[in-house]
Amino acid sequence: MEECRLCRIINNENDKFLYEDEFVIIVPTNKMKGHKKRIMIVSKSHLDNNIEITTFEDIFRKYCYEYFDEEPTCIIASPEYATITNHWHRIACDWIGEDMLQCWYTPHLAIKTKGKWNRSE
Ligand SMILES: [Zn+2]
Repeated sequence: MEECRLCRIINNENDKFLYEDEFVIIVPTNKMKGHKKRIMIVSKSHLDNNIEITTFEDIFRKYCYEYFDEEPTCIIASPEYATITNHWHRIACDWIGEDMLQCWYTPHLAIKTKGKWNRSE
């Protein structure tokens, strides 16, 4: 059986990990789609992408709060349109990118970050 794309990242790209614990990793996505920052959290074991795993989602939200420190908010896309459905993951990015419209129209969660609205002051 061919290894899935997310398993391949977990098994071969640990030099890219931003965060790792027993259950999940966080890595920058391969495609940035014009965003300054675009990351995903991936479960280490195969879990259905549509289930809500509150502990993993909390880890990701806390990570995003620090990671998107140049933006007042970032978004976490809902798994509704994910292309990989059998391996749990969530993607977060800043608002500005080639897929901005898609970001707006895809159900998403806006996350407050430690960034400020007005950085010139
Ligand atoms: Zn996988």
